[in-house]
Amino acid sequence: MPTVAVIPKPNSPVELREVPPPELEQNSALLEVEFSEVCGTDVYLHRGLLTGVPYPLVPGHVSVGRLDRIRGELLDVNGQRFREGDRITFLDVHRTCNACWYCLVAKATTRCPHRKVYGITYGLDDGLCGGWATHVYLKPGTRCIHIDSDPETFMAGGCALPTALHAIERGEIRIGDTVLILGSGPVGINAILLARMSGALRVLCIGAPQSRLDAALQAGASKVLNIETHDVEARRDWVMEQTSGRGADVTIEVTGVAEAVVQAMRFTRDAGRVVIVGQYTDHGPVEFNPHSDLNRKHLDVRGCWGSDFSHFYRGVEIVSDETRAQPWSEMSLTKFGLKDANEALSEVASGAVLKALVDPKL
Ligand SMILES: [Zn+2]
Ligand SMILES: [Zn+2]
Repeated sequence: MPTVAVIPKPNSPVELREVPPPELEQNSALLEVEFSEVCGTDVYLHRGLLTGVPYPLVPGHVSVGRLDRIRGELLDVNGQRFREGDRITFLDVHRTCNACWYCLVAKATTRCPHRKVYGITYGLDDGLCGGWATHVYLKPGTRCIHIDSDPETFMAGGCALPTALHAIERGEIRIGDTVLILGSGPVGINAILLARMSGALRVLCIGAPQSRLDAALQAGASKVLNIETHDVEARRDWVMEQTSGRGADVTIEVTGVAEAVVQAMRFTRDAGRVVIVGQYTDHGPVEFNPHSDLNRKHLDVRGCWGSDFSHFYRGVEIVSDETRAQPWSEMSLTKFGLKDANEALSEVASGAVLKALVDPKL
């Protein structure tokens, strides 16, 4: 019997349950999970801070494992057939319709109203749809990708890698740019790595705690600043000192703190770009000055919601490349068994661990 770790309802401890194995529909599969992950989103899910989430919920949106059973045909993006035993991951976003106004006219598929996300908007009533489990049911139409790399290297990127990749794409970094990353969690660390790959000459990072800033330096940040010892004014002065008094060319906000959005605008040079990624949940309103913070600055502020198959696919490609994958292969991972999910959530919430994996075999 498959075992799952369930959030029964918001703010209730995670509990283990055994559930019957699913009946496989045509062109579906059962995945035996090797690793899933615990990220900031799971902390918010546990606290009930996301809308449209059906509890009881099995979290875990990005996972890797082996295909245990396939019914019918499962094809990759190149038209190749998956076989039982293959190591794969799958795009957590399911049912992007490619038929609605947002998909076809706006070409903004991450705003498709029909999309569902494994481990977030698919609950236990929808089946085995979360990675904190021994098995995940891959419904028909789930986009799977072969994993040729080491599964731990892939999971070191996890959901943060496609999220950061999308943000970097929105930031349109040019060769020689100074890029500022606000936030030093997993998305911030991945954004540093990808900003460097995109041609940024220098990457500055402002965050906390010190262990995460050390990881930022290891990922290639030129300089880091700790928010625990520097107030907003000191942070602004520091950015200006590094940028001849102008501010960063591109700033990527990945903090989860609403005030950081205004700081991102103020720390960026006139006619620069700001990408907002860290407001996945509602942290309330903030004040800014439309004249001095936006219009006069000729600033380009862009939201960045979710990720699509292209971000996920390119993320997998990067960690499958021996040379490019090196920083991810060196990242520090902390593993938790399904029974330790509550501990994992509190460690992630406090920032005590950089990247937490769930290993159902522990
Ligand atoms: Zn659509
Ligand atoms: Zn995540």
